[in-house]
Formats: sequence, structure tokens, C-alpha cells
Amino acid sequence: MIETATVYEIEDRYGSGAYGKRPTALVRGQGVYVWDIDGNRYLDATSGQGVAALGHCHPAVVAAVNAQASTLVSIHESFYNDRRAELYTLLDSITPADLSRFFLCNSGAEAIEGALKVAKLLTGRVGIVAAKRAFHGRTTGALSMTWTPKYRKPFQAWLPAVEHVAFNDIAAAVEAITPETAAVVVESVQGEGGVHPAANEYLQALRERCDQTGAMLIMDEIQTGFGRTGKWFGFEHADILPDIVALAKAIGGGLPMGAVCWRAAHGPIDRASHGSTFGGNPLACAAAIATLTTIRDQGIVERARSHGEWLMDELAALNLRGVRSVRGRGLMIGLELRGRVTPVLKALQEQGVLALPAGLNTLRLLPPLNISRDELRAVMDAIHEVLD
Ligand SMILES: *Cc1c(COP(=O)(O)O)cnc(C)c1O
Repeated sequence: MIETATVYEIEDRYGSGAYGKRPTALVRGQGVYVWDIDGNRYLDATSGQGVAALGHCHPAVVAAVNAQASTLVSIHESFYNDRRAELYTLLDSITPADLSRFFLCNSGAEAIEGALKVAKLLTGRVGIVAAKRAFHGRTTGALSMTWTPKYRKPFQAWLPAVEHVAFNDIAAAVEAITPETAAVVVESVQGEGGVHPAANEYLQALRERCDQTGAMLIMDEIQTGFGRTGKWFGFEHADILPDIVALAKAIGGGLPMGAVCWRAAHGPIDRASHGSTFGGNPLACAAAIATLTTIRDQGIVERARSHGEWLMDELAALNLRGVRSVRGRGLMIGLELRGRVTPVLKALQEQGVLALPAGLNTLRLLPPLNISRDELRAVMDAIHEVLD
């Protein structure tokens, strides 16, 4: 068996250098747990960055992937496929109203790029309005809408017509959105930016302003989609209908997949105006069908809502010395700390719990949506131990 130190050495020597890594080599996962090379077990309250909504190696996903892997792995969308048709039908049954046109791709950034292209095609305009603190991905188009200068600055020359306005500021958004605006892009809960939920009135005002100006409202539901916030999609809390939705992370049960979804009323996009070699491959589609069917049939969206409310109440009631505030929606929870998050993440890991940062001072919890109360209690106990 390969030694931990050897893995570190090889990855550090050959890796891009783009990632700040935690000194842990994870090699196996089952349910809410992952194990390192030496057999140490951790409760994964990151869900692999919000991807493993059903935990790791969920039996329904494993079975679907195994069966599809020996049937047909890849076939381009220039042919029809049974699994893809099944997934479209399922997605249509999950998304509200006529959000029933889909473009399948392979990641979140690709879903954002696709959403932008759809907005430009549908409006014939180029202007984009995005929010400060937003995170939409790291390809050059998505990056220009991402806020954090650290991510964006070295690539400035790529910036198209993007204006960033303060998040949750209705007046600023109304002023920025004009008849030249192709799209407004916003997360229903800003994730990377610090776990900040969009106010319902804010999303309603964006909807209204987009209706007045003919701009497309794009919701980035890449992190919030598929039950994370206690509804299938975060925008449903505000009772609005976006024109376009960007999806990824949880959709494929761990396999790389993304999707752009838009209202059928806007019609299809022109032939050859977009494409993807791997997009809509039957393997990812089979994994997505198993994942979304399980989330639906086991009432996991509702569970994420009640477990999330419970955990947020309990965390707030602890009144921890190291915590300034607790915020979030469903099982997307942020604890704004009085100090830096990095040492807290390290201490939690020593307690056997993996969590995420969101900015410098916010601890972010994105546990699998099917986590049990007892497992959540273990997360809470570790937080109590470390932050009190
Ligand atoms: C993760 C994420 C992205 C980017 O997804 P990638 O798959 O890493 O390209 C975009 N937007 C939001 C809100 C995200 O959480």
C-alpha cells in the first residue's frame, strides 16, 4: 500500500499548485464518512464540496453506475439515448412550471457559461449584472461574474460587460438592470461568499425588474439545488420563477455533471450555437437518475429542511464564544466566527469532522442531505468542543 507521505510528495511535485491542500489523503467513503490511508474515519460535513448529497457510494447510485458502465458509457448528443430521455423527463418533473429545456454539461462553471450563452442568444444583448461576493466558477466567462479579486484579478483582460452590485440591495440592482442587460446572475444563497441567503423581496424585485427590461434572470443553483436549502431549488423560497437556472454539484450523485435549464416559453436555442463532447453522457445520466429519484422518493428535501432548522436552532442556542452569528437555509449553514476559520477547520478535523470555509471568517457546513440526527449531533458536539 502507498504511504501517506509518498502521496503528498507526488501530488505536490506534479500537481498544478492551484489548490491549497489539507494534509490528509482520503481514499474511501461510505455514507457520511470518509477514511484516510491510515484508516482514520471522518464525518464529511463537506459532502465533497456539496456534491455527495446522498453521502458517498450510495447503493442506488453505485448500482446505477455499475449497470450503465457495462451497457454504454459515452454517446454524443448528436444521437438519441434512453438514459438521457429518462433524465430529461425526471428533471422536468422536479423543476417548477415550464423550466423544461435543458442543456447537459459536466461542471458548474460550464453550466454558468451555458446559461450566459442562452441569455445572450435569447435577448441579443451582452450586458451582465452580477452580485458582489458572488461565486460562479473559474472559467473566464464565469470568472468575470465571480467577485473575489483574488480569483479574478490576474485575468482582468477577459472581462466582458459585467457590472457587480451589492447583494440584497434592491435599489442598486434596479439601477444597474437596463434594457441593455442580457442577464442578471445571482445565487439564492451565496455559498463561497460566506453563506448569505438572498432575501425573498430581493429576488422578487429582481424578477420584477427583469420583466420590465426584458433581461433574463439567471439563478445559480449549483450549490443550492436539489434540496440543499430545504426546497428543490433555493429560488422557490421566494416564490419566483427564473428564466434560466444553472445546476451542477449534487445532480450526478458524485459524477461530474452540470445542466442549464430554461423556460420552454423562451424556446430552444439555435442549432450548433452550443455543444459539449461529454455532455449528457449515459453514465452521468444514469447516476443523476438514481440520485434524483432517491432524493424524491425518500423525502430528502423535506428532511434537509427540518434537520437544517433543528441544527441551526441548536447551534444558535449554544451561544458559542467563538461564534458571531449562525445563518443559512436547510443544510447549508454558515457560522460567522470571531476569528479565522482555518485553525477551526483543523481543530474540527482532529475531532473527526470535515467542514468547509466560506471566506476567511465563516465556517460552512454542507453535510449529506440524508445525514441522521445523531450524526448531526456529532457535528454539533465537535463544534461545541472547538468553539466554546
Ligand atoms: C461550485 C460552484 C460553481 C462552480 O462549479 P465548478 O463545478 O467548480 O465549476 C459555480 N457556482 C456556485 C454557486 C458554486 O457553488
